[in-house]
Amino acid sequence: MFASVYDDVLRRNPGETEFHQAAREVLETIGPVLAKHPEYVENKIIERVFEPERQIIFRVPWEDDRGEVHINRGFRVEFNSVLGPYKGGLRFHPSVYLGIVKFLGFEQIFKNGLTGLPIGGGKGGSDFDPKGRSDREVMRFCQSFMTELYRHLGEYTDVPAGDIGVGQREIGYLFGQYKRITNRYESGVITGKGLSYGGAQVRTEATGYGCAFFVEEMLKARGSSFDGRRVVVSGSGNVAIYAIAKVRELGGVVVACSDSSGYVVDEKGIDLDLLKQIKEVERRRLSAYAERRGTDVATYVPGGNVWEVPCEVALPSATQNEITGRDAEALVRGGCIAVGEGANMPTMPEGVRVFREAGVAFGPGKAVNAGGVATSALEMQQNASRDSWTFEFSERRLQEIMSDIHARCLETADEYGMPGDYVAGANIGGFKRVADAMMALGLI
Ligand code: NDP
Repeated sequence: MFASVYDDVLRRNPGETEFHQAAREVLETIGPVLAKHPEYVENKIIERVFEPERQIIFRVPWEDDRGEVHINRGFRVEFNSVLGPYKGGLRFHPSVYLGIVKFLGFEQIFKNGLTGLPIGGGKGGSDFDPKGRSDREVMRFCQSFMTELYRHLGEYTDVPAGDIGVGQREIGYLFGQYKRITNRYESGVITGKGLSYGGAQVRTEATGYGCAFFVEEMLKARGSSFDGRRVVVSGSGNVAIYAIAKVRELGGVVVACSDSSGYVVDEKGIDLDLLKQIKEVERRRLSAYAERRGTDVATYVPGGNVWEVPCEVALPSATQNEITGRDAEALVRGGCIAVGEGANMPTMPEGVRVFREAGVAFGPGKAVNAGGVATSALEMQQNASRDSWTFEFSERRLQEIMSDIHARCLETADEYGMPGDYVAGANIGGFKRVADAMMALGLI
C-alpha cells in the first residue's frame, strides 16, 4: 500500500526530488500508526495529506538599479489548513523551484502539528537571489512579489515568515506592500516583523535558540549536557547565529561554522559579535571573519566541507542535503554523539542511517527547528491581542515548547515501539494530530 502511495507521489510530482525524499521519509515511519488506526487508511488520510490544498505559481517582474528588467518566479504552496491558517516561511534563493517549496511545505505540516499550536502548513519563495543586490533592488523585488501574493494571504488564511534569504529587511518590505495594497494594518498576516511594527521578542533568535534547547534535552536524556562540548554549526545565517549564541550560553564551544563559500575554524570559540557584524550587518563572506579575527586564531577554508571538523555535537543549520553518508561517517569517527537539525532535511537518508547505526542521538529538523514557527505563532497571538511580551517571558515560553516537543517525540516513539527514535516520534506525533483533525472535519 505504501509503495502505491509513493508511486503516486512520484507520478504526480515528476522531477521534484526533494519532495519525494521528504515524502518517503514520512512514509517509512508512519506504518505503526496506520496499523493502529485503520480509519485513517479507509479515509485516505495519507493520500490526501500528500496532495497540497492549493499551489500558486506566479511571475515576479522587477527592475534593477540600472533599469534592467528581470523576471523571477514566485511560489506559495498552501499544503494543509486543518489545524489553522497555512503557516511557513518564504525562501529567496536561486535553487528554489516547486519541488523545494513542496518539500518544505510538506515538512511544515507535521512540524506545526508537533508544536501543538493552531497553525496549518505551507511554504513559499522565489528563485530570486538577494545576494549582491542593493536594498532598493530587494525592496522592488519584495514589492512586486507581494503585489501578486497578497490576494492569497490573510491572518486567518495564510501567514508567511522568513527562511533562507528572507530576513527582517525583506519581511519589512513585504509587510509594507501588503499594508499599502490592502489599506489594512493586519499585523498577524506575516511574522518575523521588526519590533517597531508588531514583531515579537525572541522571534529572530527562536529557531537557533530552540535548536540548542532541543539538543540540550537530548543530551540530558542521555545523562549529559553541552558543558565543555565541542560543537560545529553549519551555515552562518539566522538559525546558525542564534544556535551558536545559545550553545555558548549553555556551556558548549562552537569551533566552526560555514557559509556557501567555505568554512571557518576558530578553536577559541566563534566570536559571535564579529560573526554578526560580518554576516548580519555587512552581509559579507565568512572569509572576512578570519581576516578580522586574525589568521593566527581563525582559519578560513575556501570551498571546504565543514563536516571535516571533528566535534561532539553537530548542528547542521544551512540547507537541505548538506550531510552525506560519508560526512556522517566522518562525524561519527570524529566522536560525534549528537546531531540536531537546525535546517530542514540537512541530512541525507544515508547520513541518517549512519547516525542511527552508530547510536548517535539524532534530532530531525521537524522537531529541532520547530521553535521558529512556534514563536511565530506566539507573535500572531500577541498581534491578535494587541499585546507584547517581554524577552524573558517569550524565551521561557520557547524553552517550554521545545521541552514539550522533545518529550512528545520520546513518548510517541516509546508508544509505537521505537524507543529513542526522534525521527519516528516527530513524524508520528505530527501526523497523528493532523490526521485526527482531518478525520473530524470530514472529506474536504
Ligand atoms: P539564512 O539565509 O539566514 O542563512 C542560510 C545560511 O546557510 C547562510 O550562511 C548561507 O550561506 C548558507 N547556505 C544557504 N544555502 C546554502 C547552500 N546551498 N550551500 C551552502 N550553504 C548554504 O537562512 P536561515 O538561517 O533562516 O535558514 C537556514 C535553514 O534553517 C534552512 O534550511 C531553513 O529552511 C531552516 N529554517 C529556518 C527557520 C527560520 O526561522 N529562519 C525556521 C526553521 C527552519 P551564505 O551566507 O553564503 O548565503
